[in-house]
Amino acid sequence: MTTAILGGGLSGLTLARLMHEKGEEVIVLEAEPVIGGLCRSKTTGGFTFDTGGSHIIFSRDTGVLAFMRRMIETNLQENHRNTKIFYKGRFVKYPFENGLSDLPPEDRFFCINEFIKTLIEAEKGSLRTPANFREWIYYTFGKGIAECYMVPYNEKIWKFPTDRMSLHWVDGRIPRPPVEDIIRSAIGIETEGYTHQAVFAYPLDGGIEALVAAIAAPVLPFIRTGFRVSSVRKSGNRWEIGNGSEVIEADRCICTMPVHHLLPCLAGVPTDVGAACDALRYNSLACVNIGIRGTVPPVSWMYVPDPALGRTNRISFPSGYSRHAAPAGHSSVLAEITHLPGDEVSGMSDAGLVNEVVGMCGRMGLFEEKDIVHTSVERQEFAYVVYDLAYQANIAKVREYCAGAGIPLVGRFAQFEYLNMDGCIRSVMDFVKSDGA
Ligand SMILES: Cc1cc2nc3c(=O)[nH]c(=O)nc-3n(C[C@H](O)[C@H](O)[C@H](O)COP(=O)(O)OP(=O)(O)OC[C@H]3O[C@@H](n4cnc5c(N)ncnc54)[C@H](O)[C@@H]3O)c2cc1C
Repeated sequence: MTTAILGGGLSGLTLARLMHEKGEEVIVLEAEPVIGGLCRSKTTGGFTFDTGGSHIIFSRDTGVLAFMRRMIETNLQENHRNTKIFYKGRFVKYPFENGLSDLPPEDRFFCINEFIKTLIEAEKGSLRTPANFREWIYYTFGKGIAECYMVPYNEKIWKFPTDRMSLHWVDGRIPRPPVEDIIRSAIGIETEGYTHQAVFAYPLDGGIEALVAAIAAPVLPFIRTGFRVSSVRKSGNRWEIGNGSEVIEADRCICTMPVHHLLPCLAGVPTDVGAACDALRYNSLACVNIGIRGTVPPVSWMYVPDPALGRTNRISFPSGYSRHAAPAGHSSVLAEITHLPGDEVSGMSDAGLVNEVVGMCGRMGLFEEKDIVHTSVERQEFAYVVYDLAYQANIAKVREYCAGAGIPLVGRFAQFEYLNMDGCIRSVMDFVKSDGA
């Protein structure tokens, strides 16, 4: 029994490994010349950058966290998060609601006053149950935190109006602050939010790709790179998976590549299912990598909600994640710009993107242009799942169809869920456990 796994990102590779450990025959079909998907990294001139945006290893899921740490246990640097939000020229502690004392006094008052007013309204039962993400933000944090940070930042990363986004996904992912923490943070007593991420790991050498490389090591002979799946057909009991010039046969077929790529491979997909798939929204990503001589602020990563600072939504400092990620005496900066597939950012030259980010970093006082020794740009078409209001109906239709066709969907863009690495590995573990159990 051979199982074909479509896509060789973290999900496909973890799936191949766990199935192989169960004694099953697998073949991974990956379109790109290299494995890893969003979890790839490149080292140039001594600087290592993750090409799918900056990644860190953390999880609430102790089983998955132990698995990830075990994979890189001899190649790991542990870090304490020091994350900021760049707000009106200040470095505000992250999460924003835990950093209120870093705000200018007027904004601090606005945030705490509106938070407490909202809480009183909620207690009285006079607040409407939120119906979309924007309403949920106001309901949970009050108008102050909503308007100073949550709405501008979320509209910048999602490139989509928050009042047209669903709220089914926010519970647990965006922390709900206890009122005591809000008051403590506003008067300057240290509080921590999002504590399961307060300590994070990162590979010492090789960037985040070291994690997928370690996972993939036992199954390397069963991976075909450069195989862009373009047709998936059932013939009797066998699957025939083609790339336009070659067909591979398998007894089973599991998809970890984006559903947007799977459905066009299948014959006879009903029009409404195809339309539901096309309507599933996602964002693309451009990453600007900068290597500099000297130091940068001792910050892990930083959110940039202010639209006046340009398109960058987040800046990270990989040289702080691993002491081997930059040459001695140097530091690195990775700016992430989410954008819509095919929009003006897709058409911008690399030099144009670098210029914009260097200008922004200069205005923020992060480094001086004369100290730049390396720049590069990486782009990813599929970066973030965007949960619009039609998402749940659309994904249900696509999943039902794929289940009927006998193709399990596992992974971030196959399940089409906002899954981090831990969520992908959990999906794989659960799939392998239930499979044939
Ligand atoms: C900016 C950013 C930052 C992130 N930071 C973190 C973080 O700090 N921590 C964390 O845990 N997670 C993070 N994530 C999430 C993490 O990257 C994903 O959860 C994970 O990489 C998804 O793996 P996957 O295999 O499901 O999908 P992918 O990595 O997208 O893999 C899918 C694979 O399918 C292949 N493929 C596509 N079409 C075809 C085809 N026709 N034929 C064959 N193969 C095909 C692709 O080339 C790709 O290799 C981040 C994501 C982004 C975008």
